[in-house]
Amino acid sequence: MTTTSGNARRGIIEPWLGSGWPIDLFEAKTFFEKKGVFFCSRSECGIGNRRILRDPWQLNCGHRVCKECYDKLGALPEAQQLCEACTKELFDEGHLNLDRKLRLESGHDFLLNKDGMSYDAAPPSTSQQPSLADEVPTRVPFKIDFSIAMKDKAVDREISRLLVNCPYGCDTPAKLTLRTLERHMEECLERWVPCEKCAEVIKYLGIGEHRTKCCPFRIVECPNKCGVAGLRAKDLAKKKVQVVKHLNEGKRMDQHLKSIMTKLHTTTTQSSSGPATVISQSQISDLQKRLLTLENQSDRANRMLMDKVHHMTPEMARGLLENVQLAQRNRQDLNDLNSLFKTVAQDVHKLTSYEGAFCALTEKISKTENETAELLSRLETLSNIRVAEIEDQKTLLNQLQMTSYNGHLLWKITDVQKHRDEAATRHSIYSHPFYTETYGYKMCARVFVNGDGSGKNTHISLFFVVMKGEYDALQTWPFQKKVTMKLRNVTENRPDIVEMFRPEPSSFSFQRPKNEMNIASGCPQFADQAHVFNPDNGFVVDDTMYIEIMVNNESTAGLNSPQHVYDNED
Ligand SMILES: [Zn+2]
Ligand SMILES: [Zn+2]
Ligand SMILES: [Zn+2]
Ligand SMILES: [Zn+2]
Ligand SMILES: [Zn+2]
Repeated sequence: MTTTSGNARRGIIEPWLGSGWPIDLFEAKTFFEKKGVFFCSRSECGIGNRRILRDPWQLNCGHRVCKECYDKLGALPEAQQLCEACTKELFDEGHLNLDRKLRLESGHDFLLNKDGMSYDAAPPSTSQQPSLADEVPTRVPFKIDFSIAMKDKAVDREISRLLVNCPYGCDTPAKLTLRTLERHMEECLERWVPCEKCAEVIKYLGIGEHRTKCCPFRIVECPNKCGVAGLRAKDLAKKKVQVVKHLNEGKRMDQHLKSIMTKLHTTTTQSSSGPATVISQSQISDLQKRLLTLENQSDRANRMLMDKVHHMTPEMARGLLENVQLAQRNRQDLNDLNSLFKTVAQDVHKLTSYEGAFCALTEKISKTENETAELLSRLETLSNIRVAEIEDQKTLLNQLQMTSYNGHLLWKITDVQKHRDEAATRHSIYSHPFYTETYGYKMCARVFVNGDGSGKNTHISLFFVVMKGEYDALQTWPFQKKVTMKLRNVTENRPDIVEMFRPEPSSFSFQRPKNEMNIASGCPQFADQAHVFNPDNGFVVDDTMYIEIMVNNESTAGLNSPQHVYDNED
């Protein structure tokens, strides 16, 4: 083990004081208590305090003391350089009475015997003092001879091999001895170490937190959030008021004002679109200029001071005094500026809270707007659905109104020109359905305004369609009724175009419908386009024409068979 001061230098805290090892450090302490062989022979250390030898030295009497104790004995006045263990033994054996012991220890009445222990004659007695030799035989303790004392390496080795406990009380499973203890104490997780800044002794595991949170010497930022760093926590703690110490420290004050000013500048620039601007830009730049001037004056004064301080004449001293006064005035100005800034900062704070309220309001409005928009769009969707429903109902109503139940269809086709244009892509249109009687066959007509099949582009093609009806089960199949198809001439006394046919019983068109509509059948060359679309001929008037279908039971012998249209899909 090295010395205590060496340990302290490496940051190890020894949990004991004194020259010897405390007995609690060792595992087999009962062994030492019984035998006592390794106790130091000095009363302050081993005899009185049961400490174990540390770096043992053997005296010429055979007793051992720690090296530190040995040095202490050597520093005593020569008359007191006695082995305390020997003295105690003599006293315990009755060779010394208390009075004699005290006199021995105080250096009086002492006889030196270099040849070892022996009974010794009493010193010459006086009439005032009774002779000690009359009471008990006296033995004289050894005077320590430092020239022959030496380090006891054997005992040192024995002690250093004894098992010890970690003084920090950790539960390491390692078998520690005095030899390995030092290294363990440097690594022990329960160890105590001194803070390198404030020297407070801290548990090793807590030193990190101490450095960042507790150490009075840690470096912190200005708590006013001015951005100035590098302040000692200890210095800040001294000032309870808002204006911290660094405000009043020459150079730092400038930094502080500058940084606050920059912040103010930013704030006012940002808020210039807000409800009110408290500080104008020109005011800010005025303040900046003033500060700059003050800084320059301070610098100049400093330079002059440094130049002249070595060659001081009375005039120079006066000049210096003026500079000092100027500097003081500057200081006053800076203080004024500082209080001005505080006022400004309060205004900015107010402004900021106005802005906050304004922002909250704007947010609320925009939220309401969003909600309204959402509501409107929902309403629109709903009303669109409603309109579509109404349209459907209208169509249904129209169909119901137009539907006839007597086998007679009158079909008014408007926008004929539009249908002709669209008919270029083989366009056809269907009539609304009609019935032979209330619970009869369901039918409709289909027209290709621009012709289909053999009538394509030359004729209007007109077809008859049997539809799937609600009462088909009650009808006779195939459909057998005579069909008359007409294109009406609107002009008075001019003939209509008429075709009639009786259904062919084997045709698919007249079987009971399995789909919505059967295949249409009728006349591809029903009417000549040139004839019909000539406005002078009276078939199309006001872009409107009329088709008529009549179905009855009349016999129609000799009528043409109808032709079919095979694509119901278009
Ligand atoms: Zn000692
Ligand atoms: Zn001794
Ligand atoms: Zn430990
Ligand atoms: Zn510290
Ligand atoms: Zn600050």
